[in-house]
Amino acid sequence: MRKIELCEKSIKNLIKCVNENKLTKLMGDFRSVVSKSFNISLEQYLVNLGFNIEKCGFCEDYSQILMLDLEIIGNEIFIKDIFYRSKNPYICRSSKCPSKKLNPNSIERVMKSNKISKEQARELIHSRNKSPFYKENHLNNEDFLKWQKRDKNYFIKKYGTQQGESRFKYYCDKISYKNSKERYVLENNIEKFIDISNLKAITLKNMIRVHSKDGELIYSNWKNKIANTQESFVRRYGEDEGINRYQKYKENLSYS
Ligand SMILES: [Zn+2]
Repeated sequence: MRKIELCEKSIKNLIKCVNENKLTKLMGDFRSVVSKSFNISLEQYLVNLGFNIEKCGFCEDYSQILMLDLEIIGNEIFIKDIFYRSKNPYICRSSKCPSKKLNPNSIERVMKSNKISKEQARELIHSRNKSPFYKENHLNNEDFLKWQKRDKNYFIKKYGTQQGESRFKYYCDKISYKNSKERYVLENNIEKFIDISNLKAITLKNMIRVHSKDGELIYSNWKNKIANTQESFVRRYGEDEGINRYQKYKENLSYS
């Protein structure tokens, strides 16, 4: 328990706030009187009194919301303990803090704002089940891709066998509708459908439109890449599979 040493008037004011249960006012008044009297922050004042105050894990600032447990004895006021109003004291509220630039569900932000390890942060994020959308929240790329895959198993795992199957079917219908010509027709947008299909096509004209002066080179690289030579089959599918597929491709050509 530490005694607050301030002028008589300030002490009287703080005691009045405690008695009237005006704790927010108390903190504001306390902060301003400390700053006026000693030209230091309230946090620094409390550190000088021997309290340990957590700093922000990102900028070393003391900007979290502090609360004090106070006791009045006679005309004196004592600090019994300090606590934090925010859920974790390791993140400040300053708009200049680098934490503001981080996604709230990123590993780095969760790690530093809770002072926990990378592994613990990953577990916490998963337990909140908020952000498996971020690649960095998965152990590796494989896990991430597995999570993203919306196959039948995903729906069954999430909704149970019966509901999972019907949800999966609905999902497939929705996706195919989204990309279908039917949708554009239904939505009176057939012109847009044609436009998009044409714009997406890999043609010299489109490549130049998108990549300007590099377009020609990109287009010719692409042409070479998809050229139906044995070399390109090997490049795409590996030695054995590539030669195999190339043979089949040639056979099919000779039949047609
Ligand atoms: Zn900060």
